[in-house]
Amino acid sequence: MLATVALLAALASAPDQLIVVGAGGETKIPIRVDPAGAPMVPAAQLLAALGGTVTVADAWADVTVARQPFRFLLGAPLYVFSSQLQPLANPVWLTRDTLYLPFQFVAEILPYYLGERYRYDARAARLEDVSRKGVAKAAKPVERLPNGLRTGHVVTIDPGHGGVDPGNPGTYFPRGVREKDVTLQVGVLLREELRQRGVGVRMTRTSDTLIALSDRGGFCTAACDLFVSLHVNSLARRRGYTEVRGFETFFLAEARTEDAARVAKMENEAVRFEAGESAATMTGGLDFILKDLQLNEHLRESARAAELVQKKLRTVHTGEDRGVKQAGFMVLTTARRPAILVEMGYSTNPQDGRYLTSRRSQRTMAAAIADAIVEYLRDYERKTGGGDVGGGR
Ligand SMILES: [Zn+2]
Repeated sequence: MLATVALLAALASAPDQLIVVGAGGETKIPIRVDPAGAPMVPAAQLLAALGGTVTVADAWADVTVARQPFRFLLGAPLYVFSSQLQPLANPVWLTRDTLYLPFQFVAEILPYYLGERYRYDARAARLEDVSRKGVAKAAKPVERLPNGLRTGHVVTIDPGHGGVDPGNPGTYFPRGVREKDVTLQVGVLLREELRQRGVGVRMTRTSDTLIALSDRGGFCTAACDLFVSLHVNSLARRRGYTEVRGFETFFLAEARTEDAARVAKMENEAVRFEAGESAATMTGGLDFILKDLQLNEHLRESARAAELVQKKLRTVHTGEDRGVKQAGFMVLTTARRPAILVEMGYSTNPQDGRYLTSRRSQRTMAAAIADAIVEYLRDYERKTGGGDVGGGR
């Protein structure tokens, strides 16, 4: 959180106009005062001077500066940056067609997060893009991997269950092999495949241990691009239950169908293996609302990742493509970044049981999931403007 003292100082010295020194030279922008008396900067003019963009849709104003997205909630003093919801001194102001950003954005937020690029001189009321000289010449090339990805991505792999929680018993697995073993085997292979593709990996577990459901998501916070939980499906004994086979990928939301609700219930039941206090400590009130906002923020990304995993698995898996689904998995609600859960097949089906426990097909699945993740990250880079090298816009 930003220092209040700095904020007060900035507000006290809010000038009549702001000078922006960007790639295109110097721009003078008038400062206005909103009905509550707070100093405001017209967003379109500011972003034009900075070479960024601003759009308003639904409840959000989306601002991109130096390829970094800031989202401002309309009507509330909140913004999202790097997946974190942050307080604002005062809300953005939308009057007729004009969107105004709090002066705090210029005086404090930009220099704080993008300090290498933007300096604000309060005395001169001058915001300067200090990188612009470098941009004019050869822009520093973004480091890229042979597959086109930027370096520095991190994905969290969560092999489901573990320790005293065996997951499903693995009806058609070789004797003694349970869900927790298969998720770990594929998880470790997926780690190898991702590393070979230049993607950093964090594991929630690398041995036969129990990690509380409520802790797993905590492995994927600010510096993590995607959370991937691996599981094996199973059905309760009833007529024809061994015939159902195939793979499906979930992203977090209310369960849409009865079957999705069943899978979510089954995977959430791991809580019963956890010792007392770790089991679901839910803080109420604002915390919950803020968390909910962050989740919505990632919903589209999570859905996209799930789609890609299905698409790639389809090319290697011998079972049925059961599609992308939504359900309320606890392990996904605690992740603060886009998150998916892959049910790699049914241990209650003989063919799937063989497929899931063969070393060769485990490797093929891991490679397919890794390919999907790379494609997801590449899409994401393109969308957030990281896709073009050294652009001097
Ligand atoms: Zn499971």
